[in-house]
Amino acid sequence: MERAADSPLTSGRAPESPASVAEPLYGGIEGGGTKTVCAVGYSPDRVLERVVLPTSDPDSTLQRAVEFFSAAQRAHGRLAALGVAFFGPLELRADRPAYGRLLDTPKPGWSGADVLRSLKRHVCTQIVIDTDVAAAALAEWRLGAGRDVSSLAYVTVGTGIGVGFAPDRLKDIRPFHPEAGHLPTRRAAGDAFAGVCPFHGDCLEGLASGSAIHARWGEELRALPVDHPAYRLIGGYLGRLAASIALLAPVERIVFGGGVLADGRMLPFIRSAARDCLGGYHAALDDTAAMDLYIGSPALGDRAGIAGALLLATDAWARCGTGCEGQNPRR
Ligand SMILES: [Zn+2]
Repeated sequence: MERAADSPLTSGRAPESPASVAEPLYGGIEGGGTKTVCAVGYSPDRVLERVVLPTSDPDSTLQRAVEFFSAAQRAHGRLAALGVAFFGPLELRADRPAYGRLLDTPKPGWSGADVLRSLKRHVCTQIVIDTDVAAAALAEWRLGAGRDVSSLAYVTVGTGIGVGFAPDRLKDIRPFHPEAGHLPTRRAAGDAFAGVCPFHGDCLEGLASGSAIHARWGEELRALPVDHPAYRLIGGYLGRLAASIALLAPVERIVFGGGVLADGRMLPFIRSAARDCLGGYHAALDDTAAMDLYIGSPALGDRAGIAGALLLATDAWARCGTGCEGQNPRR
């Protein structure tokens, strides 16, 4: 287990109750497929404590998160709000009985898991939840690679593929959240790989995720040289995704993050494929310099998810203050 104090306390010990606190204290939890990050702090830039836990089964993962937050609250005072950013698919409609639960997921043991129950009972009643990729998009837009643009899409390529949008003005009214990793995609010529998605086989995630890369070549992408055919093939699929985003949900910038793309070597292939796929249809993007600005790397690295979780909490508190208990302050 990794434990780190990210930044020093700025003014001594926090008071015991948020009612008497000039500056509220927040919690964030980022539940990913392999690791779960928990943090408490005054803002994403002023984290007091942070822990990285392995994501194992739901009960033991959430129990360890509860233990972290309980100890942190004993040390620093009560949380005003907790932001939960979890891998999906999630039920995010607050009026549904399954609110805050995982829906059917390929991750063993997690289908139907109730993410919110123990956190609400033992950590904080003021909870706001969204997907991990939506939270990462929010953080990159507000604090990272999207600070100079009006809107941003964040694509993460890891074990799976996810896409989040910021700002996301539809999230309180739509029946489910985006799952763009499972978009059907046009196969590259000569690509006979069956695909690894347990639901669809050869959807985008089935053909181009980290799991697919490992199944295709027995290696992680970073272990392959940049002249390996993996870059052109996978970059082609991800470029089609970028073109689909440009056509379907136009944003001012798209950033490609996640563990598979962390070294940035895939970006030129993605840009080139996106431009080819658009075929000159978007005149504003039919230019190398424009495409270089349009598709880029994240600025927050692997901190985007937990920063986004803390932003969910700070935003909820700013919106609702002490009066939002029992509501779902996601707007
Ligand atoms: Zn799929």
